[in-house]
Amino acid sequence: MVFGKLGKKIGEAAQNIGEKSHDFVATQKLQHEIHEAEEEIQQRILAIGKRYLEETGRTARVADSQKEDCERIVALEKAIAVLKTRILFERDLVICTGCGEEVSTTLKFCGKCGTAVVLPVFEDAPPAGEKPPAPPAG
Ligand SMILES: [Zn+2]
Repeated sequence: MVFGKLGKKIGEAAQNIGEKSHDFVATQKLQHEIHEAEEEIQQRILAIGKRYLEETGRTARVADSQKEDCERIVALEKAIAVLKTRILFERDLVICTGCGEEVSTTLKFCGKCGTAVVLPVFEDAPPAGEKPPAPPAG
């Protein structure tokens, strides 16, 4: 029976495709579980790191094996603070040293707490209007 054989073959092929797509879905599901577990591991490692920084105060009680990373984190946090100050300063604003409020650089005193406005000094950036030193020739 030609049709019978053909029908059987088609049926087998369909079954194979069915199994393969089933495998694919199962694999995807397992991959997803792996991904979720890996993500949770990353989050927990981060949490351990954050707790460690809090508990050690970032510098004083840090183990020697963690010193380099902790010092780098502290340096990066300082750099971020400077960058944030610069962004504010570009908008003619400074953070009040007394209350933390954003204050206009045109004011002499904070309108909220009365603390004198201190304009930031950026070490590596020349003041506005001043030309940066020419790069060395060559
Ligand atoms: Zn203030």
